[in-house]
Amino acid sequence: MKHLKNVSLLNYNTFRIDVNARELLLIENDSDLEYFWNLQSTSDQKILFLGEGSNILFEKEFDGLVVKNEQKRWSILEDNRDEVILEADSGLLWDEFVRICIDNNFYGLENLAAIPGSVGAAPVQNIGAYGIEQSSFFKSLLAFDISKKEFYEFPNDQCKFSYRHSIFKEKNFENLLIYKVRYKLSKVFIPNLHYKDLQQYFQDTKNITANELYHAVVEIRARKLPDYKEYPNAGSFFKNPIVSKSQLENILKVEPNIVYYNVDGINFKISAANLIEKTGLKGYRRGNVGISPKHSLIIVNFENATGQEVAEFASFVAEQVFDKFGVLLEREVIII
Ligand code: NAP
Repeated sequence: MKHLKNVSLLNYNTFRIDVNARELLLIENDSDLEYFWNLQSTSDQKILFLGEGSNILFEKEFDGLVVKNEQKRWSILEDNRDEVILEADSGLLWDEFVRICIDNNFYGLENLAAIPGSVGAAPVQNIGAYGIEQSSFFKSLLAFDISKKEFYEFPNDQCKFSYRHSIFKEKNFENLLIYKVRYKLSKVFIPNLHYKDLQQYFQDTKNITANELYHAVVEIRARKLPDYKEYPNAGSFFKNPIVSKSQLENILKVEPNIVYYNVDGINFKISAANLIEKTGLKGYRRGNVGISPKHSLIIVNFENATGQEVAEFASFVAEQVFDKFGVLLEREVIII
């Protein structure tokens, strides 16, 4: 366990915002939970549970305790004929977990390759890519409730998973340290090639292996998205808006070539990236912050920006989209 005071969070968020936390606790084994419990029960400071910091923007110093699980174990809980249940520590890197699954012939998560972040963060925002959300394979999670000093298990149907959302984003669940996550995976590989990018990647869609699909996703993402290690960012800054038919018609009057998908016949998903692109902001930079020239949904900290600068720039982008299309972009990134 490491317990640090007045520590910079620069290396703990992919936006690389240099703010301090009053305290940082790195949990390295199970017995550290007792220390954590004692620490928080003798103080009323606020607590922030952090994963890899890949979906967060620190607007200011964090005047409280940041807690990060550094444990990265995984194990097989159940091994049946067609399926397996795996349990992974919340501190394991998500992409490492996806690789472990493929290397052991457990299938389902291939399209979620190369998503930055930890296993513990995956259910919080119900990560998704290329037509798959983690909720389709999520079995349950084990969370340590710091207000009660107890573990609780949350099965899939209690997590209220929806597009980039779960119960763990809601106010009453702020006391939970997600500790272990369980996934039910298949021993039979059935590729999901629903998205155009994947169909175009494979000349021949027959006999694709899980490993090939994994590498395809890694390659497509590397081609389309800026690497946060070179261009600090937190992935998609905004969610794709879901609009009604009449809203869609109004948008199409402004811009007939906007990309949209029919969700359920009544609602339509619009590509937020496409909306931003049509405002002419792709690649636009103002001072230290800008939109990536590679992908218009990614806001980049080009040079030592403050969190406030990034947040102001994001508001400016959302205003431009609203002024042109009347669509309110909702943030995917959490601002602290
Ligand atoms: P894209 O293929 O250029 O497509 C643009 C948008 O259209 C995507 O956001 C996607 O929605 C939607 N879309 C595309 N094909 C679709 C289909 N067949 N049915 C329904 N919706 C479809 O997207 P991209 O920016 O390169 O991203 C590719 C995938 O990676 C997407 O699934 C995206 O969500 C994911 N991604 C996630 C993050 C993140 O930070 N969370 C960052 C980058 C990319 P969906 O987003 O709902 O899939």
